Amino acid sequence: MKVVVLRGDGIGPEITTQALRALTALAPDVEIEEHLFGARAIRATRTPLPDETLAACLAADAVLKGPIGAPEYDAADVRPEQGLLRLRAELGVYANLRPARADGIDLLIVRELVGGLYYGARGVRDDGTVFDTCEYTPAQVERITRRGFELARARGGRLTSVDKANVLETSRLWRRVTREVAADYPDVSLEDMLVDNAAMQLATTPGRFDVIVTENMFGDILSDLAAAVTGGLGLAPSASLSDDGPGIFEPVHGSAPDIAGQGIANPAAMILTAALLLEHGLGRRLEAAALDAAVQHALEQTPTRDLGGEASTEELGDAVLEALAEVPI
Ligand code: NAD
Repeated sequence: MKVVVLRGDGIGPEITTQALRALTALAPDVEIEEHLFGARAIRATRTPLPDETLAACLAADAVLKGPIGAPEYDAADVRPEQGLLRLRAELGVYANLRPARADGIDLLIVRELVGGLYYGARGVRDDGTVFDTCEYTPAQVERITRRGFELARARGGRLTSVDKANVLETSRLWRRVTREVAADYPDVSLEDMLVDNAAMQLATTPGRFDVIVTENMFGDILSDLAAAVTGGLGLAPSASLSDDGPGIFEPVHGSAPDIAGQGIANPAAMILTAALLLEHGLGRRLEAAALDAAVQHALEQTPTRDLGGEASTEELGDAVLEALAEVPI
């Protein structure tokens, strides 16, 4: 099996090093192939997603991606994020899984990733009006909500579908299709919730949720909120999956240019991302569970600065490897 690694920008390279230590310890047979992506790729080739990188990702079993982005490109014509949106579209990874766990909280946000406002028509009219459009087809809604039901069935059996059906036409489509799909999952309980209410309940009573399925932008915002109430961005991994091609596995956080190169970034989100890759990308559930447990143990013993501790990026990576050595798989 082959994993393509895109280290990314800012803290990306340093946290990816720690994730690769854990991944190669648990899956020494997996071939690792590194490629240029993001701001580093723009500097070297003037494009954030070189053809060679895209071809390698399409041919891989999974893609492990560090965060991308650099302040110098924030307002440039060619930006790292354009490469990420294109990579997601080319790989057809429409389902973004974002687990969030802490004491009494164990929820999974399933975010639609290749439709809606981030992919709709946009532009500037002659009168100076600027617009972005949000569109969904019934088929796009069906495949993501079906994925939500499947995941809920394998967990606590409760699905919350988040929309803004009192205002948006796309949300009314979302609600209609979700209810149709629900007929195939009588064992899963479905509740519809407006996004503003969902934000409030995530902030106040996050423990009430099992699986949340929602559209692209709502999921983007709600998952950062879920990360915030469960320990912060340094702990939040994600998996972006298609139906049969390679998935993209990346932490929720960005490239954190403010702390890049200092060796103090928390690599936990990136290492937990490697655990999601082991489970969903390579089908190695036991190794994934062992890595997950090792990270939780290491965080308790050796917390990083964002969690109020002293550990450096590498020291947390060391602690994860030590914990792995003690856990029988
Ligand atoms: P950010 O997530 O990079 O940083 C927000 C804050 O969280 C910063 O204070 C940062 O130091 C801290 N932080 C983030 N990850 C951390 C970690 N692992 N350990 C310790 N602290 C951590 O968000 P931002 O500052 O808004 O964005 C920076 C760049 O990242 C931008 O160019 C943005 O476009 C990009 N970005 C990329 C992705 C992606 O690659 N998927 C996602 C979000 C943002």
